[in-house]
Amino acid sequence: MDSVDQDRLLDEAMIETRRRWGWSQEQIDEFQRERARDREALRQELAAELRERESMEYERRHRDRASGPAMLDLFVPAVGETREQTCAVCLEDFVEGGKKLRRMPCCYHSFHQRCIFDWLRFNRRCPVCRFAMTSVEEQRALDRAKAEAAATCGDGPEATKRRRLDPATD
Ligand SMILES: [Zn+2]
Ligand SMILES: [Zn+2]
Repeated sequence: MDSVDQDRLLDEAMIETRRRWGWSQEQIDEFQRERARDREALRQELAAELRERESMEYERRHRDRASGPAMLDLFVPAVGETREQTCAVCLEDFVEGGKKLRRMPCCYHSFHQRCIFDWLRFNRRCPVCRFAMTSVEEQRALDRAKAEAAATCGDGPEATKRRRLDPATD
């Protein structure tokens, strides 16, 4: 018996009791509507709590992940262009025409894309040398700085207007 059945039986028992108390059909209908509203509110509350717990859990587990855009920017080397011949994550050799490869910036360690992406989603450090890729927070700061630079020194209409109005700031 699931919780919906249990609820229904409980309701029936409560309604039976209220009938014995002499409640009118109208009062019983209203009572049932109220029960339904309460149940729906409770269901929504639990769903919201679950969503929050899941997102907190995601943040905790992926706290030190690499920035997504930085991952997609990683160079795609061909087999033969890499320093190593083996993926240090799965220990399989790189094969011509096989799985797509990605190379870390700076340290130039290469891995299968699938292997290094799965890794970087949890840990932004290179599995071989621990070189740290751009974190999500660093990427956000970079994007903000870029947006601010574009707003103040760009050739956008706002910047041009500002320069014209106040040449002393240049
Ligand atoms: Zn691999
Ligand atoms: Zn490395």
